Amino acid sequence: MRHRIPFNKPFIAGRELEYIAESVLGGHTSGDGPFMKRCEKWLAGRTGAARVLLTTSCTAALEMAGLLCGLRPGDEVIMPSYTFVSTANAMLLRGARPVFVDIRPDTLNIDENLIEAAITPRTRAILPVHYAGVACEMDTIMALAAAHDLKVIEDAAQALGSRYKGRELGTIGHFGAFSFHETKNVICGEGGALVLGQDTQLERAEILREKGTDRARFFRGQVDKYTWVDVGSSFISSDLLAAYLYGQLEQFDPITARRKQIHANYAAQLAPLVAAGHITLPTVPDHCEFNYHLFAILLRDTATRAALIEHLQALSILAVFHYVPLHTSPMGEKLGYRAGQFPVTEDLSARLLRLPFYFELSDDDQRTVTAAIAEFFAERTS
Ligand SMILES: *Cc1c(COP(=O)(O)O)cnc(C)c1O
Repeated sequence: MRHRIPFNKPFIAGRELEYIAESVLGGHTSGDGPFMKRCEKWLAGRTGAARVLLTTSCTAALEMAGLLCGLRPGDEVIMPSYTFVSTANAMLLRGARPVFVDIRPDTLNIDENLIEAAITPRTRAILPVHYAGVACEMDTIMALAAAHDLKVIEDAAQALGSRYKGRELGTIGHFGAFSFHETKNVICGEGGALVLGQDTQLERAEILREKGTDRARFFRGQVDKYTWVDVGSSFISSDLLAAYLYGQLEQFDPITARRKQIHANYAAQLAPLVAAGHITLPTVPDHCEFNYHLFAILLRDTATRAALIEHLQALSILAVFHYVPLHTSPMGEKLGYRAGQFPVTEDLSARLLRLPFYFELSDDDQRTVTAAIAEFFAERTS
């Protein structure tokens, strides 16, 4: 069903269509092509990462991180339950158990003070998710990882361009994963990137990404025939999608500036509802620079959220919520988790609502959304 004001809308910000045509006509549309290299150079330059590898998705980048960590059946990886399924699946595919930890009520990020209690002799990695593009407490997480000899994989799917104490998210841990899915800030339909930290396993990462072959070395002329050298899969990005992405990356600053404006408009227009106690907003701590990935509000309870969704729906405005906590999902229950284990996650996930947020959202449409929300509360309190 089409909404007058959708929740998300894919967009063109610059030369994307021109670059896609250039990719097709240039004759290299598969992996390891010219646009992939331009995207990787841009991402590494922008974030200061040692190396960035473009992948088919953030999910694929997380799977590669799981492989590069050498996870084995019986290993444990600590992560929030309040996240997208890929965070857990990528580890589960290696046989590792996702060990969930509750979130902080202010940022909805993993509660760094609960991590140490979850560490066991089987723990191999910590997987912080920078929810909404707001940084987890990376100083605490990196110190715990160092003390217990663990890897840190940052799920930075939503966090390209955000910083923690001046450092780019995705580059602080041993591995980082970005997403360019059409719901993220810069997009190419489906796409992602793996950030490799200092003790770089670049050569192995390139092999895993190319179906376990040394094709990357072959392309560089370092071997005269490529062959099967390791496990792997097809994690490498098509140059067609990289062409789309490069057109977006070139416009990264104007895209972020527009999102900043949209975020500021929501905050200003909803301030009276916050003051009246109808809604609360998640916090962005002062030491976290934010990429304006999403705008979420917290309602008093689930029933209020359901009623507001219905009110907006009647006006053809689509607002959505996420996530069903992983520990209460059918798969979470199969893993032995049950409702009641992570109270902050369960409480906030039941009350959070995301408002329409996309590059082309007009000021008028935004005012329509906030007026509709104000009207909802005016009707309920009158
Ligand atoms: C979007 C998202 C993913 C998955 O990204 P894909 O590129 O669709 O695989 C993973 N984790 C989080 C937190 C996300 O928001």
